[in-house]
Amino acid sequence: MTKENDLLASVSNTSTDSEFFSPIPAGYKKGKTKYVFVLGTVMSGLGKGIFSSCLAKLMQDKGLKVAPIKLEGYLNIDSGTLNPFRHGEVFVLDDGMECDMDLGTYERMLDMDLSRANFTTSGQIFSSVLNKERHGDYLGRDVQMIPHVTGEVKLKLRQLAMDSGADIVFVEIGGTVGDLENAYYIEAMRELAYEEGADSSCFVALTYILEPKTLGEQKSKAAQLGIKQLMQLGVQPDIIACRASSPVTEKVRQKISIYSNVPVERVISLEDSASIYKIPASLREHTMDFEVLRLLKLEDRINLRNERKAWAKWCDFTDRIDAETYNVSIGITGKYITVRDSYASIINALEHAGIALGSKIDIKWIDTTEVDGSNVAEKLRAVDGIIVPGGFGTRGAEGKISCIKYARENDLPYLGICYGFQMAVLEFARNVCGLDKANSTEIEPDCEQAVIDILPEQKKIEGLGGNMRLGGRDIEIKPDTQAWEMFGKKDSVRMRFRHRYEVDPKYIEQLESNGLVFSGKAPDHPIMQILELENHPYFFATQAHPCLTSRPLRPQPMFVGLVAAAMKRQYPDAKLPNSIEAVNKVKTLA
Ligand code: GLN
Repeated sequence: MTKENDLLASVSNTSTDSEFFSPIPAGYKKGKTKYVFVLGTVMSGLGKGIFSSCLAKLMQDKGLKVAPIKLEGYLNIDSGTLNPFRHGEVFVLDDGMECDMDLGTYERMLDMDLSRANFTTSGQIFSSVLNKERHGDYLGRDVQMIPHVTGEVKLKLRQLAMDSGADIVFVEIGGTVGDLENAYYIEAMRELAYEEGADSSCFVALTYILEPKTLGEQKSKAAQLGIKQLMQLGVQPDIIACRASSPVTEKVRQKISIYSNVPVERVISLEDSASIYKIPASLREHTMDFEVLRLLKLEDRINLRNERKAWAKWCDFTDRIDAETYNVSIGITGKYITVRDSYASIINALEHAGIALGSKIDIKWIDTTEVDGSNVAEKLRAVDGIIVPGGFGTRGAEGKISCIKYARENDLPYLGICYGFQMAVLEFARNVCGLDKANSTEIEPDCEQAVIDILPEQKKIEGLGGNMRLGGRDIEIKPDTQAWEMFGKKDSVRMRFRHRYEVDPKYIEQLESNGLVFSGKAPDHPIMQILELENHPYFFATQAHPCLTSRPLRPQPMFVGLVAAAMKRQYPDAKLPNSIEAVNKVKTLA
């Protein structure tokens, strides 16, 4: 038995006889999976998720299997109850996990569906420890932050390593070194790296280089202090990525190198980039991919042929980014318009569609609390299409309905997402079917014509948190509809959901007989999922969130359709493809 194996063997699941408590999943093979830990110093918002996902992508291109995980410090069990205004959008995974928006960055960059195994919060870690305590799993021991809580974190990481069979697990720790709530995660990483032994892990510290306008030069002190704080926790970084608004000077990199024991070639400049999709290329320029391979001794596992193919494909995509010849303006109506992170997936999905079709997208934010029938034409004058995104509650709802009415009557391309689907149904019910009292019980609980009502399964649920109709579901597509054409004449597509309300089935017939086409529904219930209008350039809405599954090389068809229709409206003489033709054309790019 090697020395390292000795150490793991001495680690036991029972805690009374040994100070080593580090539960290891049965069948775990040490050395099979390596770990990259990504932490931030100086401030949050440095783009740890972006960095980590780009580095993971480079490894994936080399034929290595990667599995990302984000560790959040907060005590919420998931992100479902967080206000998007404070934390950015709630991203929903196929298995229904409501998580941080960084998981969206990983899914897009790696073109991979993730699950709850790829996300954890302090809330999850602690509740698992407390459940085990009640169950008697630590009998005889006082349950402590070290080794029990840190043990739980290590277990989660090793479980992911084992279940995914990954060559590298990328661990991103939320927040900043020095946050009390993240301290035990860093301690767990330190322990894990020690237990796994030499060449098993690599620590990357992201930091920020200040450049105060009044001084006109880059200052490294805050970065030095942040890294020092990390080293005081017993963690020696292997790579330091310096975020900054402009390229970090050699002098600053040297200073950081001296203070941190990190060779200067592994102290890299990561200045702001116009597109996150160009960051993998800059990491390659800094040879970060090979540095990581060397540090983890993974050189013999890579497949360079695979890399050549994957990289060529990626470069085809990034080359199209600044080569757009068209420019369309899409209005997004919403409540959280002051924080763009609240609509991150929609912005990404529009960008993917725009890049594929050769058009820049200029997003106009429309605050629907200020829109009504009298000013809607003015508010929408400058846009070539609109999106009414997901939302909750009453604020701005009537403004959304005014926007949808305008779009329907004026051939303005429209895409409704979740709440935007429900609002489109209400608009049609009121203004076409003559149900002038039509409303949603979310807005008016006692309304007379509750065309949108709470899902039967939701009526019995009490409390909030993790209990909406959540996650990936199959949608049955009605043959010979526009949706059917758009989805490649497939009978079924899968999208992700997050809602409590639906179209009350008793109104379906009336809505349909007046011309609303429900082209997608749940296979097992009469829950309407996609609607469309005939004789309109593009009028689509879905109860799902199609933006969550749009990927750079595989843009989501509903967004491609919207952008194509907006382009046709803006450039009527350019002989551009219609929405369905555009969707088919884009498929061939991937
Ligand atoms: N508030 C609506 C519902 O719960 C829509 C939700 C959403 O847009 N995500 O059904």
